[in-house]
Amino acid sequence: MYGEIQKKLGIYIHIPFCRTKCAYCDFYSFIPKSENIFERYTDTLIAHMEAYREAAGDRVPDSVYIGGGTPTAMPTDQLIRIIKAVKRNFKLSKNTEFTVEVNPKTADIKTFRRLRRAGVNRISIGLQSANPTELKSLTRTHSRADFEECFRDARAAKIQNISADLMFGIPGQTIESLLSSIDYLTRLHPDHISLYDLKLEEGTPLARIADKLTFPDEDTEFEMYRKAVEMLEKRGYMQYEISNFARPGKQSRHNLKYWNCEEYLGFGPGAYSYFNTNRFSFVRSIEAYIKGVTEPSSKVNLTVGLEQISGRAQLGEYIMLGLRLNEGISMSEIARRYGVDFAALYGKKCEKYIKYGYMVLRGDRLRLTLSGMFISNYILSDILSFEDLGALSPAGKF
Ligand code: SF4
Repeated sequence: MYGEIQKKLGIYIHIPFCRTKCAYCDFYSFIPKSENIFERYTDTLIAHMEAYREAAGDRVPDSVYIGGGTPTAMPTDQLIRIIKAVKRNFKLSKNTEFTVEVNPKTADIKTFRRLRRAGVNRISIGLQSANPTELKSLTRTHSRADFEECFRDARAAKIQNISADLMFGIPGQTIESLLSSIDYLTRLHPDHISLYDLKLEEGTPLARIADKLTFPDEDTEFEMYRKAVEMLEKRGYMQYEISNFARPGKQSRHNLKYWNCEEYLGFGPGAYSYFNTNRFSFVRSIEAYIKGVTEPSSKVNLTVGLEQISGRAQLGEYIMLGLRLNEGISMSEIARRYGVDFAALYGKKCEKYIKYGYMVLRGDRLRLTLSGMFISNYILSDILSFEDLGALSPAGKF
């Protein structure tokens, strides 16, 4: 209605299938044993979205993100059914950013054409490294030529917005090899680049053999990060978040929602939501998820960790997520939103980080410097005394 502010929403859909399992990965995903799981899972997702249609009410989703796992590890027909169900059940904004995550060798030009026709306008492709030895140590099963073919297919199918993922801190990686991966990738001109620090997640095959591998030491990792940011900026990719870089106007609208504490609904096993001031996730098991959605009277606890985020917790999240952004947080915005004086509450703790160059206070805004971003988890948990920083992402990512 004219003059009325529309309430925006992000939608995340988790596809927990992969063709192979990477040694470092602890996302909820697995290699399906039988083909019929795809249809069962699609039917379940569609039923679940229908169940939420009313709750979403007049909210207007302007970002949809189908991630995983590997969404394109499932048949395109099923993926298209999911996309159509999103459009049918929610009143998407006309210029919705609609992303699908892809891995090389799981999608070709035909797949991309079908996705684009169905409404997808952004593709995120996992490269991780352009160096064959590093790809092998990550147990990625594609080459850089496979990535390039996938990238060119997406462009040929007229996907205008392409993001690619890279990693640093890989066993055997050097500053030179990281910069050479960035050089290679930027020559293809993606619109957006995510650069993640490889984390050793407990229980993963990589963590089990970590003591037999040589990882870059902490000083080298910081140099990698610093030089990577410098090179990306020289090539036109401005850092807007700790791990994210974009050409002008190509920042990920969906991910910005997480960092700006805006509402999003996540569907699928292990997917997180922040909706109506509640944070919750769905059970991290596909069979339990299917049962929980399709047999509501079963004993399955479909919703996990439901928590009303109010008052101090909301403020903590706003600070924690806002400090991930280059622009940082605004003191006056904190006063306006939460009615508190940031300096009185956290000023003392921030002083030492400002003094040693990890934070900068300019006028109304406080932000992390590059060195601060590198140790952001440490700084944030010190300031806010939060223990579980990982709980604030859909499907536990980033
Ligand atoms: S990193 Fe991605 S492709 Fe590899 S196993 Fe995890 S979800 Fe699958």
